[in-house]
Amino acid sequence: MQWFNRFIVWILPIFPKSFIWLFSRRYIAGQSLLDGIEKTKELNQSGCCATIDVLGEDIHSLSEATLAKEECMHVLDTIQMNMLDSNHSLKLTQLGLKIDKKKCFQNVKDIVQKAKQLNNFVRIDMEDSTCTTDTLEIYRKLRKTYNNVGAVIQAYLMRSQEDVRQLIEEGIAHLRICKGIYDESPEIAYKDREKIKENYIQMVEMVLDSGGYVGIATHDRGVINRIIEMIRSGGYPSSQFEFQMLLGVTEHLRKELVSQGYRLRVYVPYGDQWYGYCTRRLKENPQVAGHIIKNIFIRK
Ligand SMILES: Cc1cc2nc3c(=O)[nH]c(=O)nc-3n(C[C@H](O)[C@H](O)[C@H](O)COP(=O)(O)OP(=O)(O)OC[C@H]3O[C@@H](n4cnc5c(N)ncnc54)[C@H](O)[C@@H]3O)c2cc1C
Repeated sequence: MQWFNRFIVWILPIFPKSFIWLFSRRYIAGQSLLDGIEKTKELNQSGCCATIDVLGEDIHSLSEATLAKEECMHVLDTIQMNMLDSNHSLKLTQLGLKIDKKKCFQNVKDIVQKAKQLNNFVRIDMEDSTCTTDTLEIYRKLRKTYNNVGAVIQAYLMRSQEDVRQLIEEGIAHLRICKGIYDESPEIAYKDREKIKENYIQMVEMVLDSGGYVGIATHDRGVINRIIEMIRSGGYPSSQFEFQMLLGVTEHLRKELVSQGYRLRVYVPYGDQWYGYCTRRLKENPQVAGHIIKNIFIRK
């Protein structure tokens, strides 16, 4: 079956977008903010909180960065108006990181300031390794004034434990830990899945031990079980952590954790740039493509 799944992913580009949409829509809330809000309401009703993300591809000008900033502000206002249990995730490249770092800082600062006024929180997603140092630098600068902002650390990066150690030392370890989604070189990133898992679990423990806050972003049942064991034996309070999952992924596991009383946040992407996001998800786990295709053709 493996070859079939990979084949499906390989031929994705030749399918019309409307066809891809059929099996992508479980991963994104829809094309508009209203769709994101509706999905978040559903999730809140089922006991999950959310983080809303605006999908966007590369930007090429500061005016596009300003538009992206305005959309982020609109997201925060709309969350507030609808009294939803959701914060906001964003990417610094959308706000101009690769064009003008100073302007990018100002953009994200405005958003975090707005979130502060609304008693909300902003999570800065981590992008590929060309962004890591700049992203953490901006995070550090923001944390001098604001405590309602957090960063993301990728377990596949060899530098990550040292980053976590330093952030702990600086007293600003409010971190989402994920495995990492980009294709990085073996010079800087672990490729061995077991090594990545070990690194992941160690960093979660480091943050918990330091009294910081950790978003445990994974669908890996083995990793989750080990972390739950660690939390139980270490007696860490629930105010120090939450689980996080992507929309449309391992919903059974999500429900299990919610039924056990754990705080679980679902990442809710929306936007008209859904195509790039969905094809990335499908490439990451080609098995899904096979299942979805089967569901489309085999109607029970
Ligand atoms: C809330 C959240 C935020 C994230 N933010 C970032 C970020 O800022 N930067 C970044 O680089 N990465 C981010 N990621 C992605 C992350 O780095 C991983 O690439 C992704 O979560 C898959 O890793 P995993 O830990 O779930 O383990 P995996 O070993 O990849 O998956 C474990 C199991 O989960 C299931 N699964 C995983 N992915 C899928 C899928 N797409 N469809 C169906 N089933 C699937 C499968 O059953 C698989 O066996 C984020 C992930 C989450 C959950």
